[in-house]
Amino acid sequence: MSRADSTLLPATLLKLARLHGRPEIFFSIQGEGKSIGLPSVFVRTALCNLHCIWCDTDYTWNWVGTRFPHINDSKPGYRKFEKKQWIAPCTIAEVAEAVAAFPCKNVILTGGEPMLQQAPLVELMLTLRTTSPDYRFEVETNGTLVPTTAFDAAIDQYNVSPKLENSGNTRRLREKPAAYRFFAQSPKSGFKFVIAEKSDLDEVLGLLKTHSIAPEKVWLMPEGTSAKALAKRRLWLVEVCKENGFRFSDRLHVQIWGAKKGV
Ligand code: SF4
Repeated sequence: MSRADSTLLPATLLKLARLHGRPEIFFSIQGEGKSIGLPSVFVRTALCNLHCIWCDTDYTWNWVGTRFPHINDSKPGYRKFEKKQWIAPCTIAEVAEAVAAFPCKNVILTGGEPMLQQAPLVELMLTLRTTSPDYRFEVETNGTLVPTTAFDAAIDQYNVSPKLENSGNTRRLREKPAAYRFFAQSPKSGFKFVIAEKSDLDEVLGLLKTHSIAPEKVWLMPEGTSAKALAKRRLWLVEVCKENGFRFSDRLHVQIWGAKKGV
C-alpha cells in the first residue's frame, strides 16, 4: 500500500461511554481496592459482555431492543438506552488529549468491559507514555477475557471484579476458566468482590478454591449504594477478612457521592 493510500485509512476509534452528552473521561479518586484513595483519571468505555441486573453503568450496554432484565425496569421512567446516543466513538488522539489535560498520571480504564477494546486501549496507553513515562494504567475488568500479549505488556494493574450468581448472568457467561487462570497467576492482578450476604461469601470461597486464587490477592467490599448501607455490613466483613487473610476495602465513591455518576 502506498503512503498516500495509508493516509486514507480511518484512525483507530475507541468507543467510550457518553454521559451528559460527552465522552466519559473524568478526574477523581480510586474508590476501592488496591489503589484506594489514589487520584486518578477515569476513561469509561462503552459496551459490556455481561448484563448484571444491578449494574450502575447500564448506559454502556442495556440497549433498546435487548431482552436483559434490570432492577430498575420497574422504576417509573426507566428506559433502555439508544445505543447510538450513548456511545461516543473517539480517536486515540482525542482521548489522549483529554486525559493529558488533567494533572494526574494514574489512569483507570473502566466500563462497561474495557477489555473488549484491548487494541485501541493499547494504542492509548502507548500514546500517553510517549508524552510521559510516568503514566500508570489500571483496568477494571469483570475477569472474563484473557489479555493479549500487547495489553498485558502495557497495563500496570488488573482490578478483577468477577460477577457472582446475584448478577443474573449465567455461570457459563460469567466464569471463564482460562481468564481466571491468567489473572490468578498474574502479579499485576487483584480480585475484588462486593459482598451482600453469607451466600455471596460462600460462592467467593468456592471460586477461590476452584481457580487457585491466593487470599492475599483478594479484597472484599460491602454491598450498598449509600454510606448507611455500607456501614451495616462493614463489621461482619472485617471479621471475615481477618479469618481468611483477605483485605477489606471500603467503597469511597459510595461513601462520598452515593449513587451519583461521573464523579
Ligand atoms: S460487568 Fe460491570 S459493566 Fe458489565 S454489566 Fe456487570 S457491572 Fe455492568
